Amino acid sequence: MRWDGQEITAEDDAALPGLRKMAGLVRTVRTPEFAGIVFHEVTARSVLNRVPAASRMPFRWTVNPFRGCSHACVYCYARSTHTYLDMDVGADFDSQIVVKVNAPEVLARDLAKPSWTREQVALGTNTDPYQRAEGRYRLMPGIIGALVASGTPLSVLTKGTLLRRDLPLLGEAAAHVPVSLGISLAVLDADLQHLLEPGTPSPRARLDLVRAIRETGLDCHVMVAPVLPWVTDSREHLDALLAAIAEAGATSASVMAAHLRPGVKDWYLQWLEMHRPALVPEYRRLYGRGSYAPDAYRTWLAERVRPLLRRHGLARGSRLRAPEREPEAPAQAPDAVMQAALF
Ligand code: SF4
Repeated sequence: MRWDGQEITAEDDAALPGLRKMAGLVRTVRTPEFAGIVFHEVTARSVLNRVPAASRMPFRWTVNPFRGCSHACVYCYARSTHTYLDMDVGADFDSQIVVKVNAPEVLARDLAKPSWTREQVALGTNTDPYQRAEGRYRLMPGIIGALVASGTPLSVLTKGTLLRRDLPLLGEAAAHVPVSLGISLAVLDADLQHLLEPGTPSPRARLDLVRAIRETGLDCHVMVAPVLPWVTDSREHLDALLAAIAEAGATSASVMAAHLRPGVKDWYLQWLEMHRPALVPEYRRLYGRGSYAPDAYRTWLAERVRPLLRRHGLARGSRLRAPEREPEAPAQAPDAVMQAALF
C-alpha cells in the first residue's frame, strides 16, 4: 500500500488502549494524505449486523465498514459508540478511524450461507460509508458487489461526494436488486455547515451529487436531518434548503429534528457555547429530559415543513416522522433513523 513504511504495528505504544484489546487489529496507520487522522486496520470476523428485534427500523441488517467518522459533525449521535474503544466522543471520533479492511470478503462469505434470506441491508447506518477513508480503502465496491451477487437489496445514506465514484456500479446494481440512495443535507449556508460539519463536502457539492445520482437514472431521497432548534429551523432556511434540493432534482425529502444522546449532547453544547451561547439554556430546557426533542417541538416542526415539502414537490414518498416516545433500547445505530426514510 502507498503508506508502506509508515505503519505502526499493533504493539506500538501509539495504539490506543481499547484498540489493543480489539480482536483482529492488524496495524495502525498514519499517512500524510490524511493529516491528523489515524487509521486502525482490523480484520473483522463478520460485518453483517442484525438490527435489534425491538428496533422500529424497516431493515433488519446493516453493514458499517468504518467506526469513527472524519466528517466530524458536532451533533453526530454515533459519537458515543467510540467510548467502547476507550476513545472519546470528540476529537477521537473524528480522527481515530477503525477500518474493517476485510469487509467485502467476510460479507461475501456471510451472504453465501444457505441461511441468508436476502433481506435488505442498509449501508452506513452507524458511520458514513463514503467518508474520506473510503477513497483509500475502496471497500464499498466490494461490499456492493457482494450484495448484488447474492441478490440482496441495499440502501446507502451518505454526506460523502465520493459516492460519485460508485454511481456506475450502483446503476448496474439497480438492474439486479432494489437500490435506495439517500443524501444527508440539513444546512444550506456553507459557513454554518463548515462550523457544524467541518469534514463534510459543502452543501453545493452535495446538491451536485443529487444531480449526478438523478442523471444516473436512480431516485435520490434527501434527509434534512438533523434540524437544529433555533439554528436551522427557521421557515426561511427550510424553504430555501428544500427549494435547492428540489432544484437539484431530488425525488423526495424527509425532515427530522436533532437527537442528542448523552455524551453527544455535551459535545454539541460545547459547540453551542462557542458559537451560539445564548441558546445553551434553551437547549438545556428542550433536551433536559432526554435525547429526543419533545413531542411538541417535533409536531411544530412537522407542521412547519409539511406545506414546504408539498410546495417544492418533495412530499411524495417522504415521511415526516411522527413524534416518538424515548426509546428503551440503547444505541440505535446513529444514522439508522435517517436510513429508515429510504425504504
Ligand atoms: S452524522 Fe454521519 S457523516 Fe456526520 S460524523 Fe456522524 S456518521 Fe459521519
